[in-house]
Amino acid sequence: MAHVISLWDIPSLPVKDSTALYPVRRIFCVGRNYVEHQKEMGGDGRETPFFFLKSAHSLVPGGGTLHYPPKTANFHYETEMVVAIGKGGRRIHATKANEHVFGYGVGLDMTRRDLQQLGKDHGRPWDFGKDFDEAAPCSALVPAAKLGHPARGAIWLKVNGKERQKADLSDMIWSVPEQIAYLSAHYTLEPGDLIYSGTPAGVGPVKPGDDLHAGIDGVGELKVKIVPAL
Ligand code: MN
Repeated sequence: MAHVISLWDIPSLPVKDSTALYPVRRIFCVGRNYVEHQKEMGGDGRETPFFFLKSAHSLVPGGGTLHYPPKTANFHYETEMVVAIGKGGRRIHATKANEHVFGYGVGLDMTRRDLQQLGKDHGRPWDFGKDFDEAAPCSALVPAAKLGHPARGAIWLKVNGKERQKADLSDMIWSVPEQIAYLSAHYTLEPGDLIYSGTPAGVGPVKPGDDLHAGIDGVGELKVKIVPAL
C-alpha cells in the first residue's frame, strides 16, 4: 500500500532481556491517584480519580535527553509506574485485570504545569499542559511473566542526587486493576495501550542541566537529563 506522505515508525518501548519491542498505541494517565499528591494539588483526599491522554508521539523510550519544552516557565516531573496492556478488552472486571497486562515500567509524566493550570482556570482541556513533544519518557518494560504484578514497593525520584519523591505503590488510591476496570468501561482497551498510574507527592520544576533519576523497586529505573530548548 502506498502512502501520500512517508510512514513513520510506530513509537515503541524496549523490553528487558529481549530484542523485540513493545509498540505503543495510546497513553492513558490517571490524575491525583496518591493521597498526599492529591492534597498537594488542592484535593481533599477523597476525590474520584480521572484520566487524560498523551499521544504515543510524546514517548521517549528508555529516557535520555529531554529538551525543555516551549511556552512554559514551570516544567514539572511526575514519577509513575507504567502499565503496558498486552491483551485488549472492554468491561474488564478488576479481578481479571492482571490477565490483560503485558508488563510494567518506570515513567515520567512530564507536565507544563503553568499551561495545565491555565486550562483548569478556564475549564479548558489539559492537552497543552500534558501532551507535547517528549512529554512521556518511559523505561524498558519488564514482562509480568517474569515480574508478577507489583502492588507494593518503593517509587522514588532523585533530582541532581537529591530525593524529591518517595512513596510506595500501595499508597495508590485506585489500584492498577481498578484503573483497568474503570478505563475499560469507557474505552475498548487494546494491546499497545499504556497506563501511567499516577504520581506520589513531591512534584516540582526542573530546568536545563538537571538530572532526573526515577525508580520503582523491583521494576526498574529511568534516567533523564533536561537540555536546553530546541
Ligand atoms: Mn501524572
